[in-house]
Amino acid sequence: MSKFNKKIYSITNLNINNLNILVIRKSIKKIYLRVATTNGDIHATVPKKTTDKYLTKLISSKIEWLKKYHEYYSARTTANILFQDNQELSFLGNKFYLKIINNQQLPRIYTDYQDKIFINKANNFNEENFNKILNQFYRIELNKILIPLVIKWQKIMKLKSNFIGVKKMKTKWGSCNFSKARLWFNSELAKKPIQAIEYVVVHELSHLIEPSHNKKFVAIMNRFLPDWQEGKNKLS
Ligand SMILES: [Zn+2]
Repeated sequence: MSKFNKKIYSITNLNINNLNILVIRKSIKKIYLRVATTNGDIHATVPKKTTDKYLTKLISSKIEWLKKYHEYYSARTTANILFQDNQELSFLGNKFYLKIINNQQLPRIYTDYQDKIFINKANNFNEENFNKILNQFYRIELNKILIPLVIKWQKIMKLKSNFIGVKKMKTKWGSCNFSKARLWFNSELAKKPIQAIEYVVVHELSHLIEPSHNKKFVAIMNRFLPDWQEGKNKLS
């Protein structure tokens, strides 16, 4: 069994040198430190009996390293995308380029699905407006791809969800409310290849059968999507 499906005893916060560390106590033997590439959060997964004092000492010895990665990954997620012609944008795992059209119309964003994303803009349009409309673009485009995928996989897996939504999320690619059968997907998935999106769809639908990431869950994934690891790898 991997460290991911061990029993969780507690989740607490520890503040060291102004860094917040999420401490997850589990029935494991080793200490794992991890900086999330999605948002820079620092997680310490530790054996049940590890004291805060011991952990503080250990983390303090690695604080420079943790700070460096925390800053790198948290900056990367909060930074606005520059609003300039030919700006590189990710879309469905490919490189696209922004084409700005000055035509005084209401802002509109659209793509040729080849390598360009166009934006019509009026005079006072700025970087903040651009990032808002770009997020909206990703949300709408992801919806177009998601709905057929969810329908396809619900048929294959003989499942039914009550709700499918897309929104920008900071830490997860998707989430599933088991009892209400509600699924949420992160609009940032629109930047990833279809295979990665499909992996998240099957992953969240599998949670309608099994809410936790245990052996049964892995067995469901293996059964329906044997190459799920490949899709998962394409998320990073
Ligand atoms: Zn999950």
